[in-house]
Amino acid sequence: MQVTDAPFDWPLPDEAVRAALEAAYRDGSWGRYHGPHGEGLVEDLRAKFASEHALLCSSGTIGVELALRGCGVSAGDEVVLAGYDFSGNFRAVEAVGARPVLADVELESWCLDAKALAEVRSERVKAVIVSHLHGGLAEMPRIRALADERGWAVVEDACQQPGAMLEGQPVGSWGDVGVLSFGGSKLLTAGRGGAVLTGDAQIYQRMKVSAERGNWAFPLSELQAAVLRPQLAKLDERNRKRRERVATILHATAGLDEWLRPIALRKNAEPAFYKLAWSLIPAESDPDLREELIVKLQASGVPIDVGFRGFTRRSARRCEKIGTLDCSERLSRSTLLLHHPVLLKEIKTAQQVGQVLDHEVRQLAS
Ligand SMILES: *Cc1c(COP(=O)(O)O)cnc(C)c1O
Repeated sequence: MQVTDAPFDWPLPDEAVRAALEAAYRDGSWGRYHGPHGEGLVEDLRAKFASEHALLCSSGTIGVELALRGCGVSAGDEVVLAGYDFSGNFRAVEAVGARPVLADVELESWCLDAKALAEVRSERVKAVIVSHLHGGLAEMPRIRALADERGWAVVEDACQQPGAMLEGQPVGSWGDVGVLSFGGSKLLTAGRGGAVLTGDAQIYQRMKVSAERGNWAFPLSELQAAVLRPQLAKLDERNRKRRERVATILHATAGLDEWLRPIALRKNAEPAFYKLAWSLIPAESDPDLREELIVKLQASGVPIDVGFRGFTRRSARRCEKIGTLDCSERLSRSTLLLHHPVLLKEIKTAQQVGQVLDHEVRQLAS
């Protein structure tokens, strides 16, 4: 059994992007420091993410660091993040001189667990990083309320889910700062790039000052901004199509309860799928099973890979840990991630992906 359209390239051919590149060549903006494309992108982002301020930067990773600085985090402070998260987020905390405090994730959503966050008691905590991962969404209303009660800033990492909505509000606008990535594999791509969003004038000012070193130290170029604008215009339509394809794939793999647990979709939410996650449950105790399955799936044309390693084994010298981080540990061993370009193909392709996955997991189980 084989997925016939494989391999799945990204970015896709796009006439609107080609036109933007040609226009940037003709008017010389490709070679300038500043211009209409960057300014236009800032306006587009402010509108799309219902945020008063947007600042363009060179990557999502630096965006998280600028966000922490914007929230006034510095040496001696503590920052809470999930035990299962993007590795750069741990490093961003260290980069500002703060100490990471790890709290567990929800097994069902792959995102920071509001109940685990409530167990954090340290007076030194200044901020919490909340990432929306793999099509799961963090429980922002509860996390926001808790952070407000404790006086913590919230850095909302929306790098994997631009355009997602939660309870009618754009993901990325729940935090004191929202962070976007325009990296080469992401849903909005310029090869590299990022942005930070905030409604707080003081945070915005601090982020600008941190990035200004007599010159703009972490810039996004005019050319990058030019190719991002037409993609932003298509984002909602593409996110909707990806959600439909995810529904098709999950339908095909629904009968594998003890083996495969898909990400749980939150009520009143419209996620964006940069990755689609499953936990291969038996791999929690036997990691070789996951490797074996991935080799077979990739050979059949399914664009799938392992998830994040997470931070559960980081030494106590580098971080605090709240509780056992059991769910983070289990997900670091068992996560499978389907990469998004396959989700913009025909429905037939999604059906094939579902069938191959179902077939290979049954083979593994027998
Ligand atoms: C990709 C990603 C980032 C960082 O983005 P870059 O632009 O590649 O630096 C941050 N957080 C998450 C969750 C990501 O997936």
